[in-house]
Amino acid sequence: MLPSTNPMAGKGRRFVERSWRLRVGGRVLAFFCMASVFVQQGRGAPFWVLLVIDCLIWPHIARRAAHAWAVPYRGERLNLMVDSAMGGVWVAAMRFDLLPSALMLVMSGMDNMASGGMRLFLRGVLANLAGLAAGLLMFGFAFEPGTRLPTLLACLPFLAIYPLALGLAAYRISRKLAEQSRMLEGLSRTDGLTGLLNRRHWENLLVREFERCRATRYASSLLLIDLDHFKDVNDTRGHQAGDAVLSAFAGQLREHFRASDSIGRYGGEEFGVVLPGATLAEARTVAERFARAVRLQAKDADSVCPCTVSIGVAQCDEAMNDHAAWLKRADSSLYRAKMTGRDRVVAEQGEPA
Ligand code: GH3
Ligand code: MG
Ligand code: MG
Repeated sequence: MLPSTNPMAGKGRRFVERSWRLRVGGRVLAFFCMASVFVQQGRGAPFWVLLVIDCLIWPHIARRAAHAWAVPYRGERLNLMVDSAMGGVWVAAMRFDLLPSALMLVMSGMDNMASGGMRLFLRGVLANLAGLAAGLLMFGFAFEPGTRLPTLLACLPFLAIYPLALGLAAYRISRKLAEQSRMLEGLSRTDGLTGLLNRRHWENLLVREFERCRATRYASSLLLIDLDHFKDVNDTRGHQAGDAVLSAFAGQLREHFRASDSIGRYGGEEFGVVLPGATLAEARTVAERFARAVRLQAKDADSVCPCTVSIGVAQCDEAMNDHAAWLKRADSSLYRAKMTGRDRVVAEQGEPA
């Protein structure tokens, strides 16, 4: 079978299931309200048959029918309109008995509003009116609005339980949405291959750190780390092996630096680490320790990461106008490290102000 070209295909399956659960519960509760009216009004078999079909069988038909749609979401919206129309039919059948009639209309209005906002609610009102007209045609017009005590008691569970169930469903959806937006936010900050911060987010943190340094005059340093001859890995072992090296190297970075240091993937095989509170000398010591650890790993025959690293170090200082100047200083240190033989750390002092 060819894959569907409809981008909405299959959408709304969970919506159908949620509506089905609410419909099953709601209809059982509504059954008692309406049965009480029919007993009191001495209604005949056709009413009871219709009541059993609508309350006990329809929820399951509605579920199947919605799932059969290419876009179940649309099928379920149609089901909600059937619910609204049936609400109108029941109002006529109950001869406008006030409490159960109001409950049927309000609850279906609430469902429509929660599922599709004002538009679906208004469509539901039209469906209510259409259903009411059909009900009047079928059963004739009679007006007995007074609700007797047994009906009032039969309506209480519907009145109390259904809004709570609807509220709970809405709460669960909003919690799921909050979780998903948290997850999306995390993904938008992360580099897909290494799981480190991506360049955009890492640079945002760098800007913040730069402003903090300028405001408080605390020391802060930056490392730019580049894998040496990484291209050879791609050329000799293939791009996928290169990816594995980058990912293993990200693990080394995470292990070596503190949680308070911000580690990001700055470019293809270039990484940045911000060391808040570190002077140039401290940052150089940390960088040298890291370069040594990487060198030892690289010598190991079983190592996933066969590369050494070159590291440029720069401390934030007053002469810098913006974070780009800080980055530039680290980059020129890195360039010097490459030019003077790689596998080393260069920490350049700024020009005296
Ligand atoms: P140098 O010591 O001068 O830094 O040499 P190098 O080979 O490490 O640097 P160069 O800039 O020549 O090559 C970097 C290579 O990194 C080229 C590019 O194809 C590769 N690369 C960049 N991003 C990725 C990636 O996500 N996966 C893989 N496998 N390779 C990447
Ligand atoms: Mg490189
Ligand atoms: Mg590079």
